[in-house]
Amino acid sequence: MSVVVMKFGGTSVEDPAAIERTAGIVAGRVAAGKQPVVVVSAMSKVTDQLLRAADEASKGHRNEAIEISTQLRERHKTTAAALVKNNTAEIHAFIDEHFNSLDEILRGLAVILELTPRISDLIVSFGERLSSRIITSAFAERGLNAAHVDAREVIITDSQYQKATPLDAPIEKRAEEKLRPLLNAGQLPVMGGFIASNEAGITTTLGRGGSDFTGALVGGALNADEIEIWTDVNGIMTTDPRICPDALRVKVISFEEAAELAYFGAKVLHPATILPAVKKNIPVAVLNSRNPSNEGTRIISLAPHCKSPFKSIAVKKRLSIIDVVASRMLMTHGYMKDIFTIFDKHQCPVDMVSTSEVSVSLTVDSNEKLPLIAADLSELADVKYEGRKALICLVGEDIRGHNGMAAAVFNAIRHINVRMISQGASEINMSFMIDEDDAEEAIRSLHATFFKDPDPAIFDVDARKAAL
Ligand code: ASP
Ligand code: MG
Repeated sequence: MSVVVMKFGGTSVEDPAAIERTAGIVAGRVAAGKQPVVVVSAMSKVTDQLLRAADEASKGHRNEAIEISTQLRERHKTTAAALVKNNTAEIHAFIDEHFNSLDEILRGLAVILELTPRISDLIVSFGERLSSRIITSAFAERGLNAAHVDAREVIITDSQYQKATPLDAPIEKRAEEKLRPLLNAGQLPVMGGFIASNEAGITTTLGRGGSDFTGALVGGALNADEIEIWTDVNGIMTTDPRICPDALRVKVISFEEAAELAYFGAKVLHPATILPAVKKNIPVAVLNSRNPSNEGTRIISLAPHCKSPFKSIAVKKRLSIIDVVASRMLMTHGYMKDIFTIFDKHQCPVDMVSTSEVSVSLTVDSNEKLPLIAADLSELADVKYEGRKALICLVGEDIRGHNGMAAAVFNAIRHINVRMISQGASEINMSFMIDEDDAEEAIRSLHATFFKDPDPAIFDVDARKAAL
């Protein structure tokens, strides 16, 4: 039988109706003869609220912290009550025990007044521990042979709290010990994403948004046949549909393309998190739990050939350009190093760089450190910086095979002033900087040019036809 890891994000389990829909989606896979392993996030916003409770407690605001915890207790109890009608005592006892323990931690924190990364991980872990347990009972009542698994017994990491690194070998071993026997017995394991533990059994987490990562780790460890990431959008689009209402769903995209898009602002999923799946050649699908019949986007290691050069156009706004101009650069080396040392000192990532003999232009996220960075840079050279810039990034594996791509791109936006251009660093992306106010117009012109006659093998052209 084919094993499918199904990961559901916070909005897919946010309330009883969402969990009901999720149960239906999982039941559909079972009916199709598949063996799901389900990974769930905390119910939406719960992680944020737990972090807020921890923050309040660490400032000595005990009552505020307990108040947040009490609201969360209510939300989990109402959700459980709406979904679970049999053995209700058991699930409510589980919820109460967990919140009693959370309250105890928060009270202790309000005395100690020091929130360590380790305690922070312990506190946020309640979100996934609770959601996964409630969902297991909800699934069981809907005829699914669900078995709850504490993710911390499977996902083993180092001790870098708040962003721990998973350890492949122990995870594989635990997956064989804890998950495989359930699958062999025809059961359906349900576990939380994001949470893990180190080899000593102390709770860790994989970092915010880490549930996708858990899904890929479990899929990789079990050598699953596929991984499904269920969110609340129809997968990856040719561009932001709020800017271009005729944006198309991309049916299939390569891992590298998805990675470029994520870096430049597409928010569907962070491809680094699915690396464990890509390494083992396990296809990953991004799907919409509110529209489960939609095929979503498949992310695979090698993209099929596409007739159009680009798969998607991303935009990243709120950027600044910093121009560094100095005659000293002439014939010297080590100059770039000095410049980058300053960005490093301020822990400011640089997006794009362009150089000439005497000047360097760099782009960064607009941030409050810019004046400080500029002050440091002005020791080396003349510095100017300007905000309200946008980066437009076109991504596609087939850029490399096409002549005249740059001409076609800049012809499409010939009415717009381009400040910086970058191509070639990655063979599959072409990007440039313009004023933020021109961004939407540029995207519309590019989209109209490059997605006029989209390849039906790659893009969902039926949806566009249906809308006409
Ligand atoms: N619940 C965690 C978060 O909100 C992990 C996740 O949802 O992926 O960051
Ligand atoms: Mg998420």
